[in-house]
Amino acid sequence: MRKNRKKTEKVNVRGLEIGGNALVSVQSMTNLPIEDVKGTVKQIQDLVNEGADLVRVAVRNEDSIEYLKEIRKAVDCPLSADVHFNYRIAIEAIKAGIDKVRINPGNIGSAAKVKEVLKAAKDHKVPIRIGVNGGSVDREKFKEVTPATLVESALEHVRILEDNDFHDIVVSIKSSDVFQTIEANTYFSEIRNYPLHLGLTEAGYGVSCTVQSSVAIGHLLLKGIGDTIRVSMTGDPVEEITIGKKILEAAGQRKAYLRIVSCPTCGRTDPSLDLLSITKSVEKELSEKFGGILKGKDKQITIAVMGCEVNGPGEASHADFGVAGGRNGYMTLFSGGNKLKKIKAEEAVIYLIKEIENMLGQ
Ligand code: SF4
Repeated sequence: MRKNRKKTEKVNVRGLEIGGNALVSVQSMTNLPIEDVKGTVKQIQDLVNEGADLVRVAVRNEDSIEYLKEIRKAVDCPLSADVHFNYRIAIEAIKAGIDKVRINPGNIGSAAKVKEVLKAAKDHKVPIRIGVNGGSVDREKFKEVTPATLVESALEHVRILEDNDFHDIVVSIKSSDVFQTIEANTYFSEIRNYPLHLGLTEAGYGVSCTVQSSVAIGHLLLKGIGDTIRVSMTGDPVEEITIGKKILEAAGQRKAYLRIVSCPTCGRTDPSLDLLSITKSVEKELSEKFGGILKGKDKQITIAVMGCEVNGPGEASHADFGVAGGRNGYMTLFSGGNKLKKIKAEEAVIYLIKEIENMLGQ
């Protein structure tokens, strides 16, 4: 599913394609010190289980390389190294089996050092991501951070790679400002074809981060811009993937194999029902039970959890199956708008599982 996307060059990151006709990927970054190998490996596995296509790890110094090697051995997913300034760390990370490096060539130092990094990247077929954000714009050269100076700053790094005949490039241009991010990425996509990594920087946490990231990333994706995304959020990185996947679904770039819809409830909902808890448990249990089975299939199942049986089955007649609240702890199981039977609210999950199993012929 790749809708109305601007065609970009393609890079390959351990089998994960970014750009070209590839699906928009979702990525995150570990937030534990790399010395905590066990914790970092567990975090990477949790991210992959949630759906991360790529995970980035900060490689802070040359001592980090030994830990990176251990992490590399323990996980098989595409890994990106986040390296700042030090060209030796970039080279050693590439030799340690990293699949992509985030480094800005303009910050490495001499041309000879850049060449060494690019030789290692070429030898190991490792793409480089140039990452520019408001804080990395050279303030001596550019007085203000604007969409134009963000793009010009990114282009300076891009040109260094191009001058060295290196084109395996991904670019990110991030700002904490939604409009700046949208404008800068739109502008860049008009003048270059490199795949774009979308996201905000210093995006905060919780609802505010979710909303701002959704607006910025969603807007660009709907314009056909963007090849991989990261929701940068203070807190558990697994949440970044959960939200990133939802953004991709809302922007029509991914199909949700299991879609749970629910009503906001109103005065018609019987006080005996806690619809939020029921909806959460339906989503959790059904995702665990059917996630693996439905993933990658062309089938989408929609389940509705509605607050009343008067309007619920009709409002959610598009759903394959649903439950709608009745009185005194009872609900009505329905399918395609038709009422099937009365059930106890605490049995909603059991009945929904049975119906889905029948539908799938299990
Ligand atoms: S389905 Fe019923 S409870 Fe839910 S919003 Fe509609 S009328 Fe209200």
